[in-house]
Amino acid sequence: MTKYIFVTGGVVSSVGKGITVASIGTLLKSRGLKVSVQKLDPYLNVDPATMSPYQHGEVFVTKDGAETDLDVGNYERFIDIELTTESDITSGQIYSAVIARERRGDFLGGTIQVIPHVTGEIKEHFKKIAVDSGADVVLVEVGGTVGDIECQPFLEAIRQMRNDIGRDNVLYLHVTLLPYIASTKELKTKPVQHSVNELRRMGIQPDIIACRADYPISDGIRDKISLFCDVERQAVIPLTTVSSVYEVPLVLEKEGIGNLVVQRLGLSAAAPELSCWQHIASCNDGCEQSVSIAVVGKYVELEDAYYSTREALRHAGLQHNRKIDISWVQADGLEKNNDIESKLRGVQGIVAPGGFGARGVDGVIRAAAYARENNIPYLGLCLGMQMMIVEFARFVLKSDKVHSAEFAADTPYPVIHLLSGQPAADSNGGVMRLGNYPCYLLPGTRVAQAYGEDVSIVLERHRHRFEFNNDYRQQLEEAGLVFSGFSPDGQLVEVCELSDHPWMVGCHFHAEFRSRPNRPHPLFCGLVGAAKNVMREGSQPTLPLD
Ligand code: GLN
Repeated sequence: MTKYIFVTGGVVSSVGKGITVASIGTLLKSRGLKVSVQKLDPYLNVDPATMSPYQHGEVFVTKDGAETDLDVGNYERFIDIELTTESDITSGQIYSAVIARERRGDFLGGTIQVIPHVTGEIKEHFKKIAVDSGADVVLVEVGGTVGDIECQPFLEAIRQMRNDIGRDNVLYLHVTLLPYIASTKELKTKPVQHSVNELRRMGIQPDIIACRADYPISDGIRDKISLFCDVERQAVIPLTTVSSVYEVPLVLEKEGIGNLVVQRLGLSAAAPELSCWQHIASCNDGCEQSVSIAVVGKYVELEDAYYSTREALRHAGLQHNRKIDISWVQADGLEKNNDIESKLRGVQGIVAPGGFGARGVDGVIRAAAYARENNIPYLGLCLGMQMMIVEFARFVLKSDKVHSAEFAADTPYPVIHLLSGQPAADSNGGVMRLGNYPCYLLPGTRVAQAYGEDVSIVLERHRHRFEFNNDYRQQLEEAGLVFSGFSPDGQLVEVCELSDHPWMVGCHFHAEFRSRPNRPHPLFCGLVGAAKNVMREGSQPTLPLD
């Protein structure tokens, strides 16, 4: 029977709930248990696909093509699993499903209410993820903060689960904040007490309280929380801020949360095997030199908009023993050539991530030109690949009218276009190639070498509408663009590279989604490997390759 850990947040958002859930997942997996994770997002949007990245950060895409919250990416990276549509449920989805059933007449004229209909629909998803994944333990993270109006149906549903499946099969974990008062130099427990009271008001008594703080948490503070919140002292877990999120699993293990969960849920588990996390921590400590990488995007003011890209760079850095020094470069700020010089001079590598809409694409094209002309390693992800091709085609065809049909419908040279018969965007923004697709690698290419000689087919995550236009394949190939990977029928170009360049690679898929701290993505590794050979300062980096 599947057991559940329900995780709530108290006091403020951004307290590290997602990382805590992901870390507990990894601790349980390290004990030989099968784990799955579900995020409950209280907002009324059906999914984050059409939300502004400024509001929501990155949209993470699962293998089955769901557009989900960025926390799902953290679950995948930490636990090293692949999740599905069931891993991110929003209030919008719940209400839409209940209302659709009501319209179909499924309720036979009954009155539709939050309890039991909305909570019932939520609980169906708890059951579905357990059945689909066959997990021993499902971790369910309730988004938002206890006390938010939108969270209430979710809290009520998780409360009911204790009665539905039995006390021994359900554990409640509350992740909360101990604020620090600088004038008196102390951590205050009152907000924790209030947030636990708020949870109890909903009928939920936490079994474990994880307390995030920017300063060490004394025994006295733990005792006080234990006393006021009615939680055993060993179940008050200190979560002091650490320099890298990848230290959190080891910190939590040291604080005993792994054994506590196993014991409370009566799980039969092996001893934890955490050597891979110890290795990651030692790599992190060992990184003294750094590599400077510019990420040229349109939402760079909010790092969360490029969350997986930033993490994939860090993973590749760990592999190459380098800290990654990221400069976030606003794409639409690169409009003049002299801006390029001032913003990109001295960087050892450039990443152009994905994006939608015309703003900033000229800046990305200029960044690609700068990378090509100055032999700066470049990795283009989706839009970044499309603009790399547009830039190269402008150079080959000697016309700045070359463009993607997404941004210039009347261009005479649409090197990136919609396939004939491919439907245009509908009002929901839904007609996209989403999720895992296979890509056949061309042996001998730099990209194939990066994946490893024994790998010929890779599965990578997509989220785009436009494709490379095969009418230009031969001409660009003759000029030095190597098409290094294709869809199984050979029709879609999935990844390409420039032959006469140390590392200029573009992929139509989002390579960043499949990177893991212990298994960095080959294309990010290739970028960082080439970048570390570029001289750090000076306007003319020397040609690389060790
Ligand atoms: N806007 C482009 C397309 O739809 C690229 C999308 C992306 O970068 N994810 O094809």
